Amino acid sequence: MTDDSSSQLRRLVVRIDPSWPQDVAVGPGWFPLLARLDQRLAEIAPNYVVQQVKAKFGSLSFYATPSDDPYDYNEEFNKAIRAAEWESTEMCEDCGAQARTYVIRLWAWTLCERHAEERRSVESTEASGDSEMR
Ligand SMILES: [Zn+2]
Repeated sequence: MTDDSSSQLRRLVVRIDPSWPQDVAVGPGWFPLLARLDQRLAEIAPNYVVQQVKAKFGSLSFYATPSDDPYDYNEEFNKAIRAAEWESTEMCEDCGAQARTYVIRLWAWTLCERHAEERRSVESTEASGDSEMR
């Protein structure tokens, strides 16, 4: 992770509700997407709160509310999140290149061809799974 990408995410991490892990559990390829989403959401709801950011079935899963009231609803806010989640399904989680979803060892990943190859070979040579991130 470069300094640049971690500073992109810092604004997002500070928004995470303290009762949730202070962690953005996605690969670096999606950091620019998250930085853009953060900017967009901050325009719509300057005090928005993040609960969780993770990858699920090869797609970004972004849980946030427009304010610290969990029942607060804002359609534009939710639309911006859905749009970013869709965008993530065509974006390599490792490098941000054009990607598609691969299922590797029962886990769905959105990866470019090169990173899908890499992920496959790592998975098959390291059966113990020490390098697993999740
Ligand atoms: Zn890639």
